[in-house]
Amino acid sequence: MSEFVDARTLPAGMVLTPDIAIVGGGPAGISLAMALANNTKLDLLLLESGSANFDPAVQALYTGSQSGDAYAPLEVGRLRTLGGGTNHWGGWSRPLDAIDFEKRDWVPHSGWPFPKAALDAYYPIAQNLIEAGPWIYDKGDSVAAANAPMMPLGEGGLYTSWFQFSKMRGDVVPTRFGARYEGSLKAAANIKPLLNANVTAVRLTPNAQQVDRLDAATLNPEGGIGKRFTIRPRHVVMAAGGMENARLLLASNDVMKAGVGNQNDLVGRFFGDNPIPRNVATLVVFGGKLASYYGSTQTLGEARMRAVFAPTAAFARSKKVMGSLTTLEYPVELDDIGKAAVITAANALGVDASSARAYSVGCGMELLPDRDRRLTLTGETDALGLPRLKLHNIVSDADFALYRQTLAELGRQVLASGAGLLRINCSRREDWLKNMDWGHHHLGTVRMHVDPRQGVVDGDGKVHGIANLFVAGSAVFPTYGASNPTLNLIALTLRLADHLKKVAT
Ligand SMILES: Cc1cc2nc3c(=O)[nH]c(=O)nc-3n(C[C@H](O)[C@H](O)[C@H](O)COP(=O)(O)OP(=O)(O)OC[C@H]3O[C@@H](n4cnc5c(N)ncnc54)[C@H](O)[C@@H]3O)c2cc1C
Repeated sequence: MSEFVDARTLPAGMVLTPDIAIVGGGPAGISLAMALANNTKLDLLLLESGSANFDPAVQALYTGSQSGDAYAPLEVGRLRTLGGGTNHWGGWSRPLDAIDFEKRDWVPHSGWPFPKAALDAYYPIAQNLIEAGPWIYDKGDSVAAANAPMMPLGEGGLYTSWFQFSKMRGDVVPTRFGARYEGSLKAAANIKPLLNANVTAVRLTPNAQQVDRLDAATLNPEGGIGKRFTIRPRHVVMAAGGMENARLLLASNDVMKAGVGNQNDLVGRFFGDNPIPRNVATLVVFGGKLASYYGSTQTLGEARMRAVFAPTAAFARSKKVMGSLTTLEYPVELDDIGKAAVITAANALGVDASSARAYSVGCGMELLPDRDRRLTLTGETDALGLPRLKLHNIVSDADFALYRQTLAELGRQVLASGAGLLRINCSRREDWLKNMDWGHHHLGTVRMHVDPRQGVVDGDGKVHGIANLFVAGSAVFPTYGASNPTLNLIALTLRLADHLKKVAT
């Protein structure tokens, strides 16, 4: 049994020498620590910048700036507290699709170093950690149909797919990793969780082939740096989140002048997120009210689930579209033109639309990889002296045009099956951007590729050229589909844990 240690109570100048230093106590860092503690004698140090409680001064370390298309402020879409983003996540969970891992000729820079099957063994454990119930993503139709009839979609490029939701036991709050796994972290004799511990630099040996040490510091409650201390680990895993991993690598530029692992100018580039444009279309269902699992999360059997519409791999290949998950949101009133269209279509199809209902349609999209959508360092510094981040955000017209094809196919299918009709509400760029939210999924900035010229880390999550430095989390996803990342990044982190057990024990 080990207690959490407050780094502010350490003697100044202390040097810690764990086998593995894990930088960041979000879902990636906590899952990794627990997986490595299991059946090994590895001495693990979990360095977390925050504590169990939100602290505005710590959170302010995340403040940054931005340019390009509107995006959430950088300190809003993440939390610098033990448990990281899971302290405010929505719990939406869905495994990536096999096609998301493939090299697709219409998606530049696509292709993971391994197929989805490489994560098969880890998904059930990740699902267990997020407490999203039994694995029934692929059995949703039968579970749902036993509850209430599904909307017929007919043959075509889209199919009904399923989200499952994380939940704290006996509650409906998604699992918060800090609170949920505090007991497990304390119970593992070989994990030392260190709170209020900010890693400020990754220091390499002069030949740039090894991490020599990590610089760390605490925040002084009155502002500025409190104590400085040093970690000399055998191995380092960066698990500080999809933006902060890139920031720390870029800012650690004393030996490698462009930043650690940035010899090919890739760190911080290819930033990704799943945009969530709202009210992109209106779906009219001739038969009237749809089952409640379309518009909101419902308990079906032992899981909490929600139906969405996803493109099949065959449709994606033939139309060269990106990933998307189309959702039905809330009932809407049709205007006169809409009502006339319903009567005309229903008459032509010979179906009864007297109790037709209309729903607003939203979606989560996958963006085309873009090396210019990127994070860079600015001249401004935070309270610990680290350069702040700037995000340049880009959503291209091609991104909207590709998703529009998917929506059009959904419209074709519902009409052909006699179930309803779909009116697309967005044609101009301004229409798409008008009601745009973001998933706060920070992806791609430390991308994975077997070729060092195309990726910062290799297929094992190791930074190319540096023997003992690894990265965990969605920063390494080279492409990412439309599924929310946390279940997937935990599965990938568990795979990394297995690799580390081989190389570090
Ligand atoms: C509002 C919101 C809703 C979301 N909803 C969903 C959802 O429904 N489904 C889903 O899959 N995902 C969702 N996400 C995304 C999800 O939160 C992230 O995918 C997940 O938290 C990433 O995990 P991580 O461990 O890689 O990084 P983080 O959760 O960001 O954790 C990183 C940790 O590192 C610590 N840290 C940072 N810098 C340092 C440093 N220098 N030294 C030491 N420690 C440091 C931080 O304090 C933090 O605890 C949502 C995010 C937000 C903001």
